[in-house]
Amino acid sequence: MRPTILFPLFADVTTLPGVGPRNKALFERLTGGRVVDLLWHLPTGLVDRRARPKVAQVKEGEVVTLSLVVDHHQPPTRHRGPYRVIMRDDSGFLTLVFFHARADWLVRTLPEGSTRLISGRVELFQDRPQITHPDYIVKPEEEDSLPALEPLYPLTQGLGQKPVRRAVEGALSLAPDLPEWSDPDLVAREGFPSWKRALDAAHAPQSQADLEADTAARRRLAYDELLANQLALALVRHRARKSRGRSLQPSGRLKRAILDALPWQLTNDQVRVLAEIEADMADPSAMLRLVQGDVGSGKTILALLAMAGAVEAGGQAAFLAPTEILARQHFDTLKSMADKAGLRMEILTGRIKGRARADILSRLAGGEIDILVGTHALLTGDVDFADLAFVVVDEQHRFGVFQRLALAEKSKRGADVLVMTATPIPRTLTMTIYGDMDVSRIMEKPPGRKPIDTRVVSLDRLPEVIDGIVRAVGAGAQIYWVCPLVELTEKSDLAAAEDRFVQLQQLLGPKVGLVHGRMKSAEKDAVMAAFKAGDLSVLVATTVIEVGVDVPNATIMVIEHAERFGLAQLHQLRGRVGRGAGSSTCMLLRAADAGEVARSRLNIMRETEDGFLIAEEDLRLRGAGEMLGTRQSGMPEFRLADLEAHSDLMEFARDEARLVIARDPDLKGPRADALRVLLYLFERDAAVKYLKSG
Ligand code: ADP
Ligand code: MG
Repeated sequence: MRPTILFPLFADVTTLPGVGPRNKALFERLTGGRVVDLLWHLPTGLVDRRARPKVAQVKEGEVVTLSLVVDHHQPPTRHRGPYRVIMRDDSGFLTLVFFHARADWLVRTLPEGSTRLISGRVELFQDRPQITHPDYIVKPEEEDSLPALEPLYPLTQGLGQKPVRRAVEGALSLAPDLPEWSDPDLVAREGFPSWKRALDAAHAPQSQADLEADTAARRRLAYDELLANQLALALVRHRARKSRGRSLQPSGRLKRAILDALPWQLTNDQVRVLAEIEADMADPSAMLRLVQGDVGSGKTILALLAMAGAVEAGGQAAFLAPTEILARQHFDTLKSMADKAGLRMEILTGRIKGRARADILSRLAGGEIDILVGTHALLTGDVDFADLAFVVVDEQHRFGVFQRLALAEKSKRGADVLVMTATPIPRTLTMTIYGDMDVSRIMEKPPGRKPIDTRVVSLDRLPEVIDGIVRAVGAGAQIYWVCPLVELTEKSDLAAAEDRFVQLQQLLGPKVGLVHGRMKSAEKDAVMAAFKAGDLSVLVATTVIEVGVDVPNATIMVIEHAERFGLAQLHQLRGRVGRGAGSSTCMLLRAADAGEVARSRLNIMRETEDGFLIAEEDLRLRGAGEMLGTRQSGMPEFRLADLEAHSDLMEFARDEARLVIARDPDLKGPRADALRVLLYLFERDAAVKYLKSG
């Protein structure tokens, strides 16, 4: 249960002044629909109204506050024309301009001959100063109501500064003093204000410098967010580790049977990583290890060898894939190898229903299946293992940390967890996504891989590229054509892909297929299967498609508007080719007017195929948020922390989380209540629930 002290913060935005049914949707779009979302909505600028010049001294574009006398009104001379009010001081005249104004209101607010304080941005019109829609019109005796400094917030269409400011002020007034959750030494060393003071300060910048990421207030807020993230991950990991582990020590008979049947040897990196996995398995505490390695670096065989070990030690293994088509693909490759060792393997996906499903479930519960491969369907309540000992999660970081462990939770006696990812992620980001998981990296590629010939080509030369594709198809090649990622809507993505599809189909006929995110998964799978079978030569796709699919015969990857993609994404797409015997090409088509940064980013792709290097460079060039492309990546969204500016805090947070768990693993000690508040404040409550069920 959420601590009561936080209730007002998780109330609906409509509880705030000035927010009602009419503009609720706008606030939802801007920040999210709750009071707390407004607290996290930090200003990105400020207005300084302290300048008090005379009319003769004002400069274009400046925000000023003037003390002026109303000289006379000039109502509109034509329909819908502006209403003007001419103001003066002893140095000259200045015009106030109002569009769609109500005359009676203006006459009341600005009576002729009266003095008013006017604050707003100065414009020059035909060399005469004017202010259109002043921000403030105040009687001299009410000067106090005119703020000297005001924060400027990011806005959304239809919502102005005033209502946002008012709502944020309302949210701040609801923010309670919260108990200190952080280590007092760290708080002192960093000079952190209390949470509440930090919030107030972050929303009341006094200078440009107060808007920077490195102020004590912003660092404090960022630290809290990072600590919540790290603490949640640490709790989960602690639980996964300590609660129910067991030692799996196979003799290695099945492993040898599988290896002996392979036409190749493991690489040194594979041998090293396998040894790391085996050591974890032998250890009595539960394993939680991440294996990172490029597409094609040979992770799958390691997963199989580890699963075989678990089976030999008397248990069962499960392999969780993110999509149906990937589950099938893994099943096919794994099964051909597993058969050689006599392993009994099955697949379970959402599409397997009725009697077939019932049959699998009963064999699984009876221990007649050694390895079960599947999708989310494996997580369903009635999927019951006789003795699940080992879980592999193949993800392109699509599973959340809790899902990863949900499968292991099905084990009666505890299961080891191996997570595999082909997305190269810089170390700092690995920490935020995977927390303190042990990490193994496969850097080396299996021998015999031919480098992919990567070219960066201007979109000006599209006709030549298309000619080349037509020739390549004539020579029997298979080609992926990835269409531009359009930021606006999925629909425009689709339109671009459809146009290209139609164009290529006119040239190549029925050999061209199209797959996109709006298709039903069965339709998608059918097109992918046709491409895999060689019935299609060209596969036009939006990036929302499943790119994990293996088509060894595909040797050309064309990516339109490559400058719009993250490098890590390009790297993954490129990894779809170069998997077979033929030599492969990747054409990165860039906008003719792509800027300098975009070009140098694309050149990195030409220079290296090392995914980790590419990821580090991408992070350096673009920053963390953009790099992973937010939601789909499974990257936790940080609202206050900036992973670059606050990378030192990330490490402190990890250390503190570790220390908390080491001292007080069940969160029962003196700081525990405060830490719980922190977890709920940042909505890491799933970790708290986890704590309870344990
Ligand atoms: P990943 O899962 O990392 O994307 P895979 O395990 O699918 O990579 O391996 C890609 C291809 O390389 C597969 O066809 C696999 O059989 C092959 N392979 C894996 N390890 C080796 C090796 N040591 N030597 C030669 N080929 C290998
Ligand atoms: Mg693979």
